[in-house]
Amino acid sequence: MKKQNVPELFGSMVFDDREMRARLSAKVYASLRKTIDENVKLEEEVAEAVASEMRDWAVEKGATHFTHWFQPLTGVTAEKHDSFITPSPDGGVIMEFSGKELIKGEPDASSFPSGGLRATFEARGYTAWDPTSYAFIKDHTLCIPTAFCSYSGDALDKKTPLLRSMQALNRQAKRILKLFGKEVKYVRTSVGPEQEYFLIDREMFEKRPDLIYTGRTLFGAMPPKGQELDDHYFGVIKPRVTAFMEDLNEELWKLGILAKTEHNEVAPAQHELAPIFSTTNVATDNNQLMMEIMQKVARKHDMVCLLHEKPFAGVNGSGKHNNWSMATDTGTNLLSPGETPYENAQFLLFLCAVIQAVDDYQDLLRLSVATAGNDHRLGANEAPPAIISIFLGDELTAILDAIENDKPYEGQEKVIMKLGVHAIPRFSRDTTDRNRTSPFAFTGNKFEFRSLGSSNSIACCNMMLNAAVAESLKQYADRLEKADDFETSLHELIKETIKKHERILFNGNGYGEEWVKEATEVRGLLDLKTTPDAMPHLLDEKNVKMLKEHKVFTETELQSRCEIMLENYCKTVNIEGLTMVDMVRKNYLPAIEGYLYSLAKTTNLMKSVSDNVKCEYEISTMDRLSELTDSILESVVELEKALEDLKSFDDIIKTSESVRDVVIPRMETLRKYVDEAETVSSEKCWPFPSYGKLLFSVY
Ligand code: ADP
Ligand code: MG
Repeated sequence: MKKQNVPELFGSMVFDDREMRARLSAKVYASLRKTIDENVKLEEEVAEAVASEMRDWAVEKGATHFTHWFQPLTGVTAEKHDSFITPSPDGGVIMEFSGKELIKGEPDASSFPSGGLRATFEARGYTAWDPTSYAFIKDHTLCIPTAFCSYSGDALDKKTPLLRSMQALNRQAKRILKLFGKEVKYVRTSVGPEQEYFLIDREMFEKRPDLIYTGRTLFGAMPPKGQELDDHYFGVIKPRVTAFMEDLNEELWKLGILAKTEHNEVAPAQHELAPIFSTTNVATDNNQLMMEIMQKVARKHDMVCLLHEKPFAGVNGSGKHNNWSMATDTGTNLLSPGETPYENAQFLLFLCAVIQAVDDYQDLLRLSVATAGNDHRLGANEAPPAIISIFLGDELTAILDAIENDKPYEGQEKVIMKLGVHAIPRFSRDTTDRNRTSPFAFTGNKFEFRSLGSSNSIACCNMMLNAAVAESLKQYADRLEKADDFETSLHELIKETIKKHERILFNGNGYGEEWVKEATEVRGLLDLKTTPDAMPHLLDEKNVKMLKEHKVFTETELQSRCEIMLENYCKTVNIEGLTMVDMVRKNYLPAIEGYLYSLAKTTNLMKSVSDNVKCEYEISTMDRLSELTDSILESVVELEKALEDLKSFDDIIKTSESVRDVVIPRMETLRKYVDEAETVSSEKCWPFPSYGKLLFSVY
């Protein structure tokens, strides 16, 4: 492969700050910068000037089309391409792109899910440029990151509420910083999402209808070897995968995506890619792009990239870790313990805001990662439990404990900690990170939310997290702004918060049965095991109130989202169920029947030749397989019935409960019998590639 100069390559397909500065007039640049940094409304002339330079740049790079690139509630990105061409009087064309086309688009949006928000007669939604996320070129198309709304202004996408939540947090965090004597331009949240995925051979993939239709295997007996030797994690990367990663990095770098760390993961054929963190909306756009490009590049290497949360039973599934923090425009990380006592007090206040947010809105965080795919992982001892709790590490916990109880912290010096007077004893960061069983862990200067599924958009959890933290900060600001003695009030506030919310802090083993018991019975934490358990909480009064108050969602938007997410869950499982039925009736049963036929024929033939043969193998296998085919038939009929019954509900909550309680258990039963049949049948007669072939055929 041709080696590229990385700094030169990096961002070469992005209309980034370097390009803007170089191409725009000083006045236009300054005005656009103000829009980006301070959310000031963009003037029309500025939009015109930017559009014209953007077009020149894009055409120079070979682009012929442009698109408003947005993130509807389907969870994947959407784009509709328009070419730049406009007829010119001489019969030719010129390449045109106006300011209007840059800032607003009007896709016919009637086929995107809206959960009743947009009746089909007002099918047009509009897309609006998000100037804080740079435009880029992909497949000869200039892509303009946008938000997507209905004509009445309701958000129809994942980006709009995310941007609103960032605004909410910005507003409240600035109030707090002001109390500490700091005027900042803005506070933004940053995210570094670590992305897990599987890579399998394309030929194998194409032989599996379950992978093609659902992204996961719905059948498959365990191979003799899985992940038990722990020989894959951080193992030497295979040449085909290395070639893929090199290509992928180049593509991502061109798009200005800071792809940084790559390694093999726990399961065979599983890998991880982590970028360097960036501002949340940019990180969200980049993560969506990253997932798309991973799949494209894999195809080029005759492989398929699986982003499903649980492509294979019996080995680990894939998640995404959302490393999250808050920083000011001057680059101060608000979750970094400071050097001086005063900075420490500020750090502790922001830390408390997160602790309170996670405790008060456990349900929102849980439901923000709830999908049919992710339900397979959470609580299954390969990913965090469905119960949300925070890991702070022993040292920070001891510090909070000391503050709460006015007792000496047993660190280097024994002092009773009075905020604003004493420095927090230094604690070593590196000891804080290693509890992998916690869903929400403090890792020195950021929190790592580990419950996300690999295919989740990170927009969902971040809008909830930002909004919830904004709410804690608002309460603090309301109180502290009125206080006569700031330091004393601050101290009291932190003490109270720790006392009130310490139930959410847990440093122990999140995989243990004891934790479920303690969390739910003693601490009263929520254990929302599945999507139908979690999603309806979106409409709980306290949640609606908070999200409305911070202008992240309107009530109708929330209702529509709850419906869409549950619908998505039901549809996903329904497709899985139908795929199972199809595979069983068209392939598995006929295949087993074929094998039974050959066994029966062989037995007859052998017996006709010799009186001494017992045909024990043939007969016992036939007996077992025949029992299994009866069970398979019975279970497939039961599953068909359960799927049919779903049509009789007119309420999405009831439908989703029936999916959870009836359909999924029946799918599991059916799979059990088919997988057992696989273990006693000849590989030659088996209609689909085995787990062994799927997991171990890339070198
Ligand atoms: P690991 O979790 O494997 O130890 P790191 O902690 O170094 O790795 O980083 C994991 C991810 O967290 C990376 O994407 C990194 O860029 C991101 N990260 C680091 N600092 C911050 C921060 N202040 N805000 C958000 N993400 C961050
Ligand atoms: Mg990490």
